Amino acid sequence: MKIGQRRSKQRELILEELKGLTCHPTADELYELVRKRISNISLGTVYRNLELLAANGVILKIETGGKNRFDGMATPHPHIRCMECGKVDDVKHEVDTPKLDISQSRGYLVKGCSVEYFGLCPECRKDSN
Ligand SMILES: [Zn+2]
Ligand SMILES: [Zn+2]
Repeated sequence: MKIGQRRSKQRELILEELKGLTCHPTADELYELVRKRISNISLGTVYRNLELLAANGVILKIETGGKNRFDGMATPHPHIRCMECGKVDDVKHEVDTPKLDISQSRGYLVKGCSVEYFGLCPECRKDSN
């Protein structure tokens, strides 16, 4: 198999793994899973492919201030993030985001808007009691 083919095969598998998850893994978490299928894959390869997929709009990168998390669902949807452990979940509710008119968007061409709630997840709530 040629190098280029091997690369795209790895990318396919990374994407497939990610799409099968709803937990918005970090690159490290996804690496642990992908490694079970491609034993010789490196963490760097997983990072690079995730960044590439996100840059191409195939997946979403969730910037959390800590480690970035990745989401196999590329259309923007609301998230809720735990401030304690950093876990991210999907919010099962369509959120109406306010539309901006030209004067409000400061000349930007608006492509979307992402909503993020934050708080304490059920596990961290238990701990803090
Ligand atoms: Zn938590
Ligand atoms: Zn999500």
